[in-house]
Amino acid sequence: MRLLLLILLVAAALPAAAQTPVPDPVMTPLVADVLFPPRAVPGSDGRRHLVYELGLANASPAATTLQKIEVLEADTAKTLFSLDRDDVARRLSIGGRRGAESADLGTGQFGVIFLHVPLDAAAPTPSALVHRITLRLALPDPVEITETAGKTDVSGVPPPVLGPPLIGKGFVAADGCCDTIRHVRALLPLNGRFALAQRFAIDWEQVDGDNRLVKGSLADPKSYTIYGQPVLAVADGTVVSARNDLPEQVPGALPANLPIAEADGNFIVLDIGGGAYVLYAHLQPGSVVVGAGAQVKRGDILGKVGNTGNSQAPHLHLHVMDGPSPLLANGIPYVFDAFTVTAVDSAGTPDFDKAEATGTPLTLTPLTPPQHLHKVLPLDLSVVEFSR
Ligand SMILES: [Zn+2]
Repeated sequence: MRLLLLILLVAAALPAAAQTPVPDPVMTPLVADVLFPPRAVPGSDGRRHLVYELGLANASPAATTLQKIEVLEADTAKTLFSLDRDDVARRLSIGGRRGAESADLGTGQFGVIFLHVPLDAAAPTPSALVHRITLRLALPDPVEITETAGKTDVSGVPPPVLGPPLIGKGFVAADGCCDTIRHVRALLPLNGRFALAQRFAIDWEQVDGDNRLVKGSLADPKSYTIYGQPVLAVADGTVVSARNDLPEQVPGALPANLPIAEADGNFIVLDIGGGAYVLYAHLQPGSVVVGAGAQVKRGDILGKVGNTGNSQAPHLHLHVMDGPSPLLANGIPYVFDAFTVTAVDSAGTPDFDKAEATGTPLTLTPLTPPQHLHKVLPLDLSVVEFSR
């Protein structure tokens, strides 16, 4: 008995610093969790980018308005990025569904905020992040509360390095990283969990010498500059799955009532090792020259750009993911070994959409001289030249 008491006293006398401090329990209105730990990617703007999603649930008995979200480096509490209420209102999707954005979370409501944190070239990549959230509770006397939540590690795994997927000039990186919506926010509830395979996808199109994506009949796939371009293996790898039999869609509108299994049209999934899989989607019928099990070398021609599946204009949808299913996977960042940026469309996605839908030229700002870049990701609406 005396021995046990002695052990207890000695244990109590051990310095507290030897143990992980246990926080005191505090009631918080919001529950917050990062859906997938982010992984930084160097971009063609010279910065590194963290792109990820924070799920938020209002577990309080009152409606809340999110006034501010600060992204902090977890170790130092240094603020890396800050969103005000208007920013939140553009990025918080109720239920995680695109098109339902709000800064307000009602009692019991859940939302997902799509975050993009750019890091200056000289700044170190943080090893972990946490979020300081300032919110207003709609009580008879409104109360402002700040809570810290949603801690996540940042993956230190470098992004895979890819060779060119296409060869030539004038390739436009549409719906690319990091603030566009169609890929970056393509969060899907699948098989009982969230998946975001397209987070870093690019829809590659191409301009002609007059900066046009399409010339001639808008309803004919052959009118589009990129149509029929050979698509190359971006790395040595093994084909996991492929399809070659779906017909071209008529450009101009997305097809109605397409089964989810046909969304990618004719496609190839290539296992490039290290847990990375590359999806090539919307390929021309009959053009896919590889099947499941085929071993390919970087630079091998795999197929041709087409307009099959859920596509309204010929393009190459390319993304990298952490599993073999084109939808039921998590999108991971990647970089290209080498490419040249010759111009950017600083007029943004509406300009691109108009050029695709009407045949007007893109509003391009040429880069003089062109920028030769290595091991970075071309950011949204960069115009890129790839060579062998
Ligand atoms: Zn796409």
